[in-house]
Amino acid sequence: MSAELSDLYQQVILDHNRRPRNRGRLPTANRSAHGDNPSCGDQCDVFLRLEGDRIAEISFEGSGCAISQASASLMTTQLKGKTSAEAQKLFKEFHEIVTTGKEPEVISDLAAFAGVHAFPARIKCATLSWHAALNALRGDTVAATTESHKD
Ligand code: ZN
Repeated sequence: MSAELSDLYQQVILDHNRRPRNRGRLPTANRSAHGDNPSCGDQCDVFLRLEGDRIAEISFEGSGCAISQASASLMTTQLKGKTSAEAQKLFKEFHEIVTTGKEPEVISDLAAFAGVHAFPARIKCATLSWHAALNALRGDTVAATTESHKD
C-alpha cells in the first residue's frame, strides 16, 4: 500500500471516530442485537429497521476502543439499503480484509481496516459490530434478540 493511500485510510478511521455516523438508538427499529468483546471491553448494540429483506435504517450504540467504534460507524454507512444477502457478502469481504490485509478489488472505505490484520487481537474489535448486525438480521424481534452474542 502506498504511503498516501495509507494516510487516506487512517483519515477514514479518525473521521468515523470524531464524527460517528448513525449513532444512537433507532426508535423505529424492528430488530436489534448486542455484541460484546470481553477481550478488549468493547460493547455494541445494533438497531435495524427492516423493510422486507432490506435494511431501511440502521444505527449503533457502543463503547470501547477506537477501532471498534470507527468500524461500527463505517458499517452502518455500508449496510444501509442492503439486503441480508448483500450484507453477508459485504461482511465476508470485510472479514477477509481484516484477517488477511488483502485489499478489495473495488476501492472501498472498508479497506481502511486492512492494517488491522497485523494486530490479530484487534480483529474482534473490527468485526464486533458486524456480528451484531448479522445477528440482528437473523433475529425475529427486538425482545428475542437482546441476549448477548459471543461469536
Ligand atoms: Zn477493541
